Amino acid sequence: MLYTLPMEKASKTKSVKQYDFGPLAELHSHLGASVNPRVLWEIAHDKGIKLPKRDYHEFADFVLLSTERKMHLNDYFKEVYHPILDPLTSGTHAVEQATYQTISGGYRTNGIVLMELRNNLIKHAGGINYDLDHVAMAMLRGMERALLAYQGLSAGLIFCMAREFDIELNTHIVNKAIKYHKRGVVGIDVAGPGNSEFHFKDYTHLFDRARAAGLGVTVHAGEQKDADDMWEALEFAQPSRIGHGIRCAYDVALMKELVKRDVVLEVCPLSNIATKAVEGIDEMRHILRTLIENKVKFCINTDWPEIIEGCHLQQQFVFLVENDLMSEEEIRHCNKVGFEASFVPRRGGLEAYL
Ligand SMILES: [Zn+2]
Repeated sequence: MLYTLPMEKASKTKSVKQYDFGPLAELHSHLGASVNPRVLWEIAHDKGIKLPKRDYHEFADFVLLSTERKMHLNDYFKEVYHPILDPLTSGTHAVEQATYQTISGGYRTNGIVLMELRNNLIKHAGGINYDLDHVAMAMLRGMERALLAYQGLSAGLIFCMAREFDIELNTHIVNKAIKYHKRGVVGIDVAGPGNSEFHFKDYTHLFDRARAAGLGVTVHAGEQKDADDMWEALEFAQPSRIGHGIRCAYDVALMKELVKRDVVLEVCPLSNIATKAVEGIDEMRHILRTLIENKVKFCINTDWPEIIEGCHLQQQFVFLVENDLMSEEEIRHCNKVGFEASFVPRRGGLEAYL
């Protein structure tokens, strides 16, 4: 299968070239950051929600990040993600539509045949105004509609706990993940801004319960320089995958441990550049080359596909190749790793889609 770059993106690259990355797997994207600013604008006007900007283009510039317009992750959470993206993508109608559009759009425009989409039910429930079962079912309905419309597609949902929530709230989320496992929830995660009150060791029993119920476990860890808790995550959460995990490139013993445990990192390069988790392209290149040299398994993902410009999976692969971060062959290998590490029930890995 050959993909041609969209014209507006092609002009930014060294050459207009066709790439063949084959059918793709996307394991790490968040619902709240998977909705295009144009759709967010329409939702706000439908619901009568006041936005910080009166002009659409100013609004789009305000919410969008890029390799030029960067913002520290915690600042973005505080100023944009939680006050704007979460409320606009809250409620059963918005959640169902956003889920359907994200999964079906990824298939149509990027050849993503296997997608895991994650969210935090409570953050998409308008605080606790919406019933969590309704929000969970809305997400499942959106996914089911996409699976029905696009028969070559496989998908699953991951429910995220939040570092800033207390254990009682997070327990509700794990309970819902277990309850809807047979309907299409395939895993749990921990995400959100750094919080000194959060400790993986307090959650061991929840991770164990989720695993015993058949759910996969992934956790955000080792992303920002000041949130280096990968060792703790490994010991107490025992995840089979880690979201980001890029800080391990500076800890040889940790990389060895990841290889020993066969843990797969869900690396999101453009997200890390745009949210200042790394200094820039050169540090990202150093990290990816170090992971490859040390045989740490990883796949490439978007994280926030509609909120970071040029972040769609195909575009991101081209970015990595054309900036000499990875070769086409290495990217194809990472894509294969993504298929093998998916929590979605196996259909035979990448080979099933070729
Ligand atoms: Zn993430």
